[in-house]
Amino acid sequence: MGRVYNFSAGPSCLPEEVLRECAAEMMDYNGTGQSVMEMSHRSKAYEPIIQDAEAMIRKLMKVPDNYKVLFVQGGGSTQFAMVAQNLGIKHKKAAYIETGVWAKKAAAEAKHLGLTVDIIASSKDKNYSYIPRVEKVTGDYDYVYICFNNTIMGTHYEYIPDTGDIPLVADISSCVLSEPLDVSKFGLLFAGAQKNLAPAGVTLVIVREDLIPELEDCLPGTPTMLAYKTHADNGSMYNTPPCYTIYVLGKVLHWIEKNGGAEGMADLNRAKAKILYDYLDKSDFYHATAEKGSRSLMNVPFLTKYSTGATDEESVAKEKAINDKFVKEATAAGLVNLKGHRLVGGMRASIYNAMTIDGVKSLIDFMDKFAAENK
Ligand SMILES: *Cc1c(COP(=O)(O)O)cnc(C)c1O
Repeated sequence: MGRVYNFSAGPSCLPEEVLRECAAEMMDYNGTGQSVMEMSHRSKAYEPIIQDAEAMIRKLMKVPDNYKVLFVQGGGSTQFAMVAQNLGIKHKKAAYIETGVWAKKAAAEAKHLGLTVDIIASSKDKNYSYIPRVEKVTGDYDYVYICFNNTIMGTHYEYIPDTGDIPLVADISSCVLSEPLDVSKFGLLFAGAQKNLAPAGVTLVIVREDLIPELEDCLPGTPTMLAYKTHADNGSMYNTPPCYTIYVLGKVLHWIEKNGGAEGMADLNRAKAKILYDYLDKSDFYHATAEKGSRSLMNVPFLTKYSTGATDEESVAKEKAINDKFVKEATAAGLVNLKGHRLVGGMRASIYNAMTIDGVKSLIDFMDKFAAENK
């Protein structure tokens, strides 16, 4: 079997060019006679790899000099704790905008760690299908927290909330480098790599230097490994970093640069999302779940006309049958991982940077055929 079009929400597809380069260098990286997987992270061969990855993040995201770029482990979920432990230390109080599962989990973790958590806005009233508009945030908050792209709900901020002097923290796991972003508007940004940057295993953190406390100033009980300072002081090499993932990350970043950088990705992503949303908006068989004005360029959940909201047994069974049939036939056609998240239902197409226009067109061709056969 050849390569499929992979619409997985994460871990997700990587550029084929990058996979080929990794394969070519697997047995002998750069004349060392070793794979990058086998190397000491303190070796002469490895150090330039992590340094280049950081330099490329700085270049592609135009990271200002007063920000640290860190590579840590534990995924996006560990950042839910680290943000609270490192930033929630003065007033022990933070504001969260609730836009779905990931924002809720982050808020719950801050609460668990003893912070007072104010949910200052929520889109729960409409099953998180939109991004609430938040005007100027004020109050004695240590930070304001948002999830910039909601992977499950398929929503995305089309504005950056004005938080004045209060640091704005954003989870950009599923939209990092999908379009240009003004880093200076944020106190801290983080992204688990496995959506848009690399295989799972590394988490990118970009944090303004003045927000990094000493270990002893973090919330009581914060482990050394969970203090940003530990990683900032040691070039992300306090302990063994996820060496191979960072190597792949570097290759993905060079691929992004070759393809026009963040601007080039935005052009490609807007084109892909436009053809898919246009198709969904015109269709009398499918519809997108996210509201216009809040739609993600990366994750596109959609339902069929059989998702009526009716809860009687027959309707529910009919809906499940059509969704299962869609996913099964799509898989057979080489379009994989389209099953929707249970909280939204239906299907979800994740169309990250590495998904090609051809992939999206193939999906639409399949959807059209499926709609005609299941009217
Ligand atoms: C996937 C995801 C997470 C969780 O990431 P892990 O690396 O699995 O902990 C957090 N936030 C967003 C927006 C995500 O898409």
